[in-house]
Amino acid sequence: MSAVSRVAIVGSGVAGTTAAILLAEGGVEVDVFERKPDLSALGSGITLQGNALRVFDRLGVWEQVKEAGYSFDQTGLRAPGPDAPVIAQIPDARTGGPDYPAVAGMYRPDLARILADRATELGARIHYGTTVTSFTQDDAGVDVTISDGSTGRYDLLIGADGLHSAIRKQLGIEVEPERTGMGIWRAFVPRPKDVTQTDLYYGGPVYIAGYTPTSDEMMYAFLVEPAQDRQLSPEQGVEVMKELSRAYGGPWNEIRESLGEASRVNYTWFTKHVVPDAWNRGRVVIIGEAAHSCPPTIAQGAAQAAEDALVLSELLLARDTVDQSLWDEFHARRLPRATEVVEASVQLGQWQIDHVQDADVPGLMRRIAMLVSEPA
Ligand SMILES: Cc1cc2nc3c(=O)[nH]c(=O)nc-3n(C[C@H](O)[C@H](O)[C@H](O)COP(=O)(O)OP(=O)(O)OC[C@H]3O[C@@H](n4cnc5c(N)ncnc54)[C@H](O)[C@@H]3O)c2cc1C
Repeated sequence: MSAVSRVAIVGSGVAGTTAAILLAEGGVEVDVFERKPDLSALGSGITLQGNALRVFDRLGVWEQVKEAGYSFDQTGLRAPGPDAPVIAQIPDARTGGPDYPAVAGMYRPDLARILADRATELGARIHYGTTVTSFTQDDAGVDVTISDGSTGRYDLLIGADGLHSAIRKQLGIEVEPERTGMGIWRAFVPRPKDVTQTDLYYGGPVYIAGYTPTSDEMMYAFLVEPAQDRQLSPEQGVEVMKELSRAYGGPWNEIRESLGEASRVNYTWFTKHVVPDAWNRGRVVIIGEAAHSCPPTIAQGAAQAAEDALVLSELLLARDTVDQSLWDEFHARRLPRATEVVEASVQLGQWQIDHVQDADVPGLMRRIAMLVSEPA
C-alpha cells in the first residue's frame, strides 16, 4: 500500500522524470505534463556530481548515463595567458561513493532522453505540448484541468516545472529567483583531444573561463562574467565569446577556432532562491528548481532536483497516507540540505564578485562534499 495511486507531474526535467520513474516503478499511475512539444529540444552540456549519479543508478539508468557521458575525477585550475599553465589538479570528491566517478559531463538532451525513456518504459505517460492550467484540491485529492481541455483527479500534484514554476505561483508562494550578479556564456563544441576533465581558468577578463567534456566527441565551454544585458543574435554571441576568450590559451585556442553557428551559443544569468518554508500546500508540492535554484558553481542543481524527487517518492511509496507527518519528514530531509547547497553555491560566486583573495574555497567545497556524500 502506498500513500498515492495516481499522481500528476508538471515538467519533465530531472526532477519530474526522476519522480515519474520511481513512482511508476512503485506501481503508481503517473501522468507527466510537459509544455515542450517533444524531446528534441537542443541543449548544451551539464556536469553531474557523484550524488546525482548515485540517484541515476537507483533509477536504473546509470549504465546508459555512463555510456553517453564523459566521466572524470579531477578538476584542473589554469591561469590565463598563451600557454594556460596548469596551476593545480584538484581531486574531486566521489560524493556518490566509490562505485561512481566524481563527475560525469553529459549532453543535456541525452540525459533527458534516457530519463524520459525509462519513465515511459515503466508505464508513466508523458504528455508533450501540454500543461496544467488550473487545479483545485480537497482533503482527498486534486482536480486538474489540462491545456487540451481534459480534466483529471489525482492523489497528488507535483510541480517540477523549473525556475519560473507556474505551480509555485498558483500555490501563492511568492518567492522568486533573484539574480546573483553573474552571467554565463555557454557553447557546445567539438572536444579537443587534450580536454579530459573540467578545467577552470581564474583571472583575466572574466570571472571564470572553463570547459567540461560531455562525450568522446563533444564538450561545452563557458565564460562567466558580470551579469549584463546581452540581447544579441547568435552570430554576435559567437563574436563576444571569441573576444572574451582571447586571454585564455591552451585548449581554449582550439575551442575559439571551432566557435560558430553550430555551437548554440547561449547567455544566461545565474539565479538563487529557496522556498524557505513548506514546499507543499495540501496535496500540491513543488520540487527541483521550482523550489530552489543556485548558480552552477558547485554543479549541484540536477543532483538536488533528483534528490528531492527521490526522497518524495520514497516517502509516498513507504507510507499509507499523505499527511502532515509525511510533509514534515520530506522537509526535514530536503530543506536544510538544499538550502546549504544554494548558500554555498552563491557564496562561491560572491567571493569572486567581491574579489576576496583569502576565501576558504577548499573548506567550503569539502563541507558540501561531505554533506552531499550522505545519501539524501
Ligand atoms: C547556466 C546554467 C548552468 C547549469 N549547469 C548545471 C550543471 O552543470 N550541473 C547541474 O547539476 N546543474 C546545472 N544547472 C542547474 C540545473 O540545470 C537545474 O538545477 C536542473 O535542471 C533542475 O531540474 P528541474 O527538473 O527542477 O527543472 P528543469 O530542468 O528546468 O525542468 C523543468 C521542466 O518543466 C517544463 N515546464 C516549465 N514550465 C512548465 C509548465 N508551465 N507546464 C509544463 N511544463 C513546464 C520545462 O519545459 C522543463 O522541461 C545549471 C543551470 C544554469 C542556469
